[in-house]
Amino acid sequence: MRVYFDNAATTPILEEVAEAMTRSMRENFGNPSSIHREGRTARAAVEQARKVVARCLGASIGEIFFTSCGTESNNMVLKNAVRDLGVRRIISSPIEHHCVLHTVQRIGKDTDVQVQQVQLNEQGHVDVTHLEALLSEESEGKTLVSLMHANNEIGTMIDLEEIGNLCFAHGAYFHSDTVQTIGYFPIDLSKLNVNFISGSAHKFYGPKGVGFVYINSDNILEPYLDGGAQERNMRGGTENIYGIVGLAKALELATEEMDVRRQRITEIRDYFKEQLLDRMPEVTFNGDPDGRSHYKVLSVDFPPSEKADLILFNLDIAGISVSGGSACSSGIDTGSHVIAALQPDSDRHTVRFSFSHLNTTQEVDQVIRKLCEILSVEQEQTTI
Ligand code: PLP
Repeated sequence: MRVYFDNAATTPILEEVAEAMTRSMRENFGNPSSIHREGRTARAAVEQARKVVARCLGASIGEIFFTSCGTESNNMVLKNAVRDLGVRRIISSPIEHHCVLHTVQRIGKDTDVQVQQVQLNEQGHVDVTHLEALLSEESEGKTLVSLMHANNEIGTMIDLEEIGNLCFAHGAYFHSDTVQTIGYFPIDLSKLNVNFISGSAHKFYGPKGVGFVYINSDNILEPYLDGGAQERNMRGGTENIYGIVGLAKALELATEEMDVRRQRITEIRDYFKEQLLDRMPEVTFNGDPDGRSHYKVLSVDFPPSEKADLILFNLDIAGISVSGGSACSSGIDTGSHVIAALQPDSDRHTVRFSFSHLNTTQEVDQVIRKLCEILSVEQEQTTI
């Protein structure tokens, strides 16, 4: 049996979600923009899904827009905030997901928007005093702060309330890439000073190719995709009805089961960490796994060796799926920009293990045993 410890890259689709989608494929073939019965039925399915997402996040239905993925949601916010809201400065960080990092870089190159990076400590935590100093500087036009809620490679998190309040106090917009935390942490947007967040169904046991963006009702953006009047004119194009239905079902389940899943995943991760340290005391961890961190991620640094170079390859052959740093979009491991930003001199070998409530302690035992074999850790120590 294969072991899947790469749940930050993507999660398997849950049976209940697949069933809801299959039903929707049969029942909702109409075009939601058509006024006849088939169209109205399909429209009702999309609007019911929007209601569920809004309810799970403390938003109003007019603030949720469905998109094709987290990448699109983040692009939409960053590019449209510059185009439509008078943003002339973006403050972000060097460890954002590429869909934020590269978008901010492009805006910096193509426009006269000033781009600033907030300082981070070695664990990836934002230096809030530095952020405050940047926000206090004189700058033309509006400022947008874009900082991810949880880092997908090392798990380090920001405090949405603290950063939101700081941005609010300085009259800055606040966008947070919440792709890794939606469905894992309670987020009540009615109580937070957050203007924009993004989500992606495949990170919380829903389908790929569907996401959403929350746009606070005070900050109306102009259309991102011109065309039809779908998504209240924001994003033309016939809706991905089945994906949207699947996203809502997955988020509803994740919200209902959040505490139980969290406890289960934390247990699995802690057990893995304990077993690993017991066999290999020389490993270290990136980020702040015992502090403000996502409980699903454990980024492990193995000391350099020829065997460690082949660790991902050998784990895959042994039926174990993990990532080096993060899932790379090109299929070529070019190293991690997150580790490079936080520990530029490190020669250690990073492997990201990321867990789900579907994993078991038996799977952990299997992975630890294989790691010992691959790295030739003394077998008498491996009594599991
Ligand atoms: N932001 C973060 C933090 C992510 O981890 C990911 C996915 O890896 C994305 C954005 C992109 O999401 P999507 O795959 O839906 O485009």
